[in-house]
Amino acid sequence: MCVPGCQEALWHALSRRRLLKGAVAAGLSAAAPEAAHAASPRRFSSVVDLTHTMSPGFPTYFGVSGIEMEKKFDFKKDGFNLYWWRIIEHAGTHLDAPIHFSENGISAEKIPASTLVAPLAVIDVAAMAAQNADYLVSREDLAGWEKKHGKLPENCCVAMHSGWGQHVGDPPKFTGKDAAGVLHFPGFGVDAAEWLIKERKVAGLAVDTLSLDHGSSKDFKVHYAWLPSGRWGLENVANLDKVPASRATLVVGLAKVEGATGGPARVMALV
Ligand SMILES: [Zn+2]
Repeated sequence: MCVPGCQEALWHALSRRRLLKGAVAAGLSAAAPEAAHAASPRRFSSVVDLTHTMSPGFPTYFGVSGIEMEKKFDFKKDGFNLYWWRIIEHAGTHLDAPIHFSENGISAEKIPASTLVAPLAVIDVAAMAAQNADYLVSREDLAGWEKKHGKLPENCCVAMHSGWGQHVGDPPKFTGKDAAGVLHFPGFGVDAAEWLIKERKVAGLAVDTLSLDHGSSKDFKVHYAWLPSGRWGLENVANLDKVPASRATLVVGLAKVEGATGGPARVMALV
């Protein structure tokens, strides 16, 4: 799965800060973190792709194509292939940066890379969401996760697994658009989001739907609470049913565009 040494290098980077903190607390010398790392190597055995394939037909919040691709150069004619893209920043599997719902929040390129590699906590609400398309992830759902897996790890990403990822090929079901044009899909409850901001140290939220807020939300309370706090969000995340509820590491490969309010991302879980 990996060239020799790459897992070691990655986990070394992931655990460096924690090890340094531990070394300072223990009054150890600068060489000690290396020794501590050697004593407890961390590994992953597989990479799960949490990214949907983007295409003009992928459902979007706005109901229009999220990407247009124009072939500007063709291999037979020009000797190489190249498209020009026109995209909506917030389409397909993508990240919401703090500036998306705030006046002075940071834009995509300013999000520290260190927060884009994070322990992944998956909150499974698929059974409830199957019964209620407007389901909101609650404080109780978060408490249920902690009861099973312990306190949410620092700088983690808390992901809602609602089961909606499997509906992506069925846009009417995925968007839940009713006769009045109102969308219906699950999202985070604002009480849960505010509790995470106040009581836990969380880097980002993730959802397998079009929005952090549930589909019928008109006031985007979760967006307005979460993003201005300097945290990020991920939307349209795939394959959350294929990762464990805890102990995986999320890696977000975000496009780094100056001033962007978010953007397409290749999102992976190291399991
Ligand atoms: Zn978005």
